[in-house]
Amino acid sequence: MRDYYDILGVSKDSNETEIKRAYRKIAMKYHPDRNPDNKKAENKFKEAAEAYSILSDSSKRQQYDQFGHSAFNGMGGGQAGFRSMNMEDIFSQFGDIFGGNNPFESFFSGGRVASRAKTGGDVKVKIKVTYAEIVNGGSKKIKLKKLKLAEGATFTNCSMCGGSGQVTKVTNSFLGQMRSTSICPQCKGYGKVINHRPSGSDKNGMVKVEETIKINIPVGVETGNYMTLESQGHEDINKTSGDLYVFFEEEVHEHFSRYGDDLLLQVRIGFSQAVFGDKIEVPTINGKASLKIPAGIEPGQILRIRGKGFPRLRKSGRGNQLVKIQIDIPKKLSTDEKKIIKEYHDITASKDIIFEKFDD
Ligand SMILES: [Zn+2]
Repeated sequence: MRDYYDILGVSKDSNETEIKRAYRKIAMKYHPDRNPDNKKAENKFKEAAEAYSILSDSSKRQQYDQFGHSAFNGMGGGQAGFRSMNMEDIFSQFGDIFGGNNPFESFFSGGRVASRAKTGGDVKVKIKVTYAEIVNGGSKKIKLKKLKLAEGATFTNCSMCGGSGQVTKVTNSFLGQMRSTSICPQCKGYGKVINHRPSGSDKNGMVKVEETIKINIPVGVETGNYMTLESQGHEDINKTSGDLYVFFEEEVHEHFSRYGDDLLLQVRIGFSQAVFGDKIEVPTINGKASLKIPAGIEPGQILRIRGKGFPRLRKSGRGNQLVKIQIDIPKKLSTDEKKIIKEYHDITASKDIIFEKFDD
C-alpha cells in the first residue's frame, strides 16, 4: 500500500491547507465523471480519497504517522462515500476555498488568494445553456472579474521566513522537542512581501480586472458538467494563475424536459384522434417532426421519435425525443357534438365496466 503522503504528493509536515489543496487537485483530475471507463483514474481517485480521509482528520493522521497503515487494519478501505461524490460535491466540500455557491459572489476573493500559498486562486463560474445550445453547440461570452498583479508592484524578501515561505516552530514538551512547520504568516508562503504598492492595488499589490472570455459549449453537455480552463483564474504575486472552472447549467424550457440523452414532451390530443389515430406535427429542438399516432392509443402511452434527442457528450449519436400522449376529454360541447356523442353513449353505455389493478 502506498504511503498516504506520497499519494497526495505532500510532505509529512504539510499543513491542513496543503493537504486539502493537494487532494482537491487529484480529485478533480481523476474524478470518474471526467474519466469515464478509466479504471486507472478511478483507482487513483479512490486512493486519494482514502489518503485524504485519513490525513484530513488530525487524530487519524496522528495514528497513521505513528503506526502507518497498520493503524487502520480491518477498516477495509470503506470510503465508499467518496466514490459516489460528484464534482459539485467536491466543490462544495471545499467551499471555503471556492467561496459561495453563487459564482458571481466568488469573483473577488482577494483575501483568500493570499491564504493559498504560491498559486493564484481558482475562479468558478456557472453558465446557463439552452437546450438548443446543447444540441447545436456554439459559444457564449462571459465576463469575469479576477485578480492581477498590478503594474509596477515590487516585492522584497520576507523577513520572517527569509524567503522560504515556511516557518518552523519548536516547542518543548515532556515528550521532548516538537518541531512543526507551517506556512509563514507574514508572507503567506510566498517568501516575499510587498515593497511598492501601486495606487489602486490591494495590500498584496493586486488589482481587480474585468475580462471577457468566450466559452465554447460542448454539444450534449448537461447540468453539473464543467470544463477547466487552466491558468485563467486569479493571478498571484508570482504571476502564477489559478484555474477557471466553468460549470454548465441547463435553462428550463417552456415545454421540453430532459432525461439523460432523451428529450421529453407531452402532447394532448383529442379523443377522436386517439380512437382513429392521426398524423400530427410536434415541435423538436430544431424545428418540427411528424408523429404518427396509432389508432386506439391509450393515455400515458409514449411514442418515440428517433434521433431527435440530445447529442451524446463525447460520443457519437443522439438520444430520442419521447412524446407522452395525453387525451383531452371535452368539457364544453356544442349542440351537434352533444348529439353525436349522446348517440355513441347510448350504444356503448350498456358495456360492462372493467375493474383492474391500479396502474400508473
Ligand atoms: Zn515569510
